[in-house]
Amino acid sequence: MLLLTPGPVTTHHETRHAASQDYAPWDMQFREILARVRDRVLTLAGGGNQHTVLPLAGSGHFAVEAAIRTFVPLDGRLLVLQSGEYSSRIARLATEAGCDVATFDIGTSLVDPHALTARLRADPGISHVAIVYSETSTGRILDAPALAHTVGACGRRVLIDAISAFGALPLDVTALPMVDCVTVTANKCLEGLAGISFSVARIDRLLECQGRARSWSLDLADLYRHTLKWGSGSHRFTPSPQAIASLDVALGLLDREGGPVARLQRYTSNMTTLYEGVQSLGLRPTLPFRDQGPIVVNVLAPADPAWNLQHFVDLLKRRGFLISNFFNTAEPSFRVGCIGAIMPDDLAQAVDAMSNAMHDMGIQHRRAA
Ligand SMILES: *Cc1c(COP(=O)(O)O)cnc(C)c1O
Repeated sequence: MLLLTPGPVTTHHETRHAASQDYAPWDMQFREILARVRDRVLTLAGGGNQHTVLPLAGSGHFAVEAAIRTFVPLDGRLLVLQSGEYSSRIARLATEAGCDVATFDIGTSLVDPHALTARLRADPGISHVAIVYSETSTGRILDAPALAHTVGACGRRVLIDAISAFGALPLDVTALPMVDCVTVTANKCLEGLAGISFSVARIDRLLECQGRARSWSLDLADLYRHTLKWGSGSHRFTPSPQAIASLDVALGLLDREGGPVARLQRYTSNMTTLYEGVQSLGLRPTLPFRDQGPIVVNVLAPADPAWNLQHFVDLLKRRGFLISNFFNTAEPSFRVGCIGAIMPDDLAQAVDAMSNAMHDMGIQHRRAA
């Protein structure tokens, strides 16, 4: 069975194998693994001695919330670039953490840097801007590094949700001094297992932001202090050792593949194969090709009374492909992930399976309304 979902993704068997044993988190050998994973993630992010990588057990939202709580001051304001479902979630996490939240609607267009600058100038209370690098709900990529420069030029700080970008899309935190924190997880483009997330954070900012988080478990400044005291392989609370050990293997596989540049190429080939394949079936993706990112493709549901997403998902699953049974686009659609340990040929076969599934469902009109 191949998962064609934008996380968790299909993993390499060597990655899964590393999870098939018990680990004692305090054991010295396990500490070495955790320390190595932190180093590798730091290197991938372009970090050096100004940054640290802090692991947090849990899904990506835990790390996003931790970044908000740790860095956004209660007398500040977080401006969220509204790119879709995941930016809305950032706004909700921040609101529930007691932050003052404002939104900047970018709609379906690319962000206009002049409009963003004007917005920041008009509201000096905004201390931070949150950017979703890859908006997983729409499949669009925002130019997070360029936007961070725009925000930095206005003297404000940046939080980047790079959860569905990291490991494939370019990132160099050393070149982005205005960024307090970049949030990533193991189970998307890094092709690891779910259960562990990371914050790539500036050390000077962590030291300035002690005691702000109003949460012990989500306080990255406290987590940093802990690693200083107890060592790089240490953990405050029980980590997710299987996910960490298998991420160590997955990161080795990423190196072997040729790093993020090679991975992005493969994902782009996956996406192109899928995009052109569904078009050849008479289906239409929600985004024009020029706006389509390499992570996930949303395809408009056929305007046929026989269409039923769960039924389609079940028929594809019988043929070896598992896609999401929900969508978060405005119009009904189905979404297909292009990331994970999968190749263009897998996507070509998935397109054949879609054709057969629609045939079995008796779908006559494949075009959306
Ligand atoms: C997957 C994802 C998250 C985190 O989702 P979890 O279910 O908490 O792991 C956050 N932001 C983006 C852009 C994502 O793709």
